[in-house]
Amino acid sequence: MSMTEEQAKRCPRCTVPGRVVNKRTIRAHGGDPAGMFTMQCGNLKCRWYQTNWVVQVNTDGEVPERDSGHEPKSFPGLATTMTQQEAKDYIDVITKDMTVDGE
Ligand SMILES: [Zn+2]
Repeated sequence: MSMTEEQAKRCPRCTVPGRVVNKRTIRAHGGDPAGMFTMQCGNLKCRWYQTNWVVQVNTDGEVPERDSGHEPKSFPGLATTMTQQEAKDYIDVITKDMTVDGE
């Protein structure tokens, strides 16, 4: 079960649309370039307030599943107890094997 870009950009916890704090184009494992959006929840009442998550959107508009064994909207392993810096570091680790265009 996949989701749309619009759904993916909503906060995984409160479902309020997040804001884009960073956007870049990645080329994962030699495939087609994809947009990598870093989103952030701006909902003061949300446990994920100012927490970032990453949404990948392929050129065909598809949002690939990251881990079918977990809740599809969750970034795997992004525990709510993580600090922002820890979350950033975690995302850096995940994305470091991807070739980044234009940076
Ligand atoms: Zn939220």
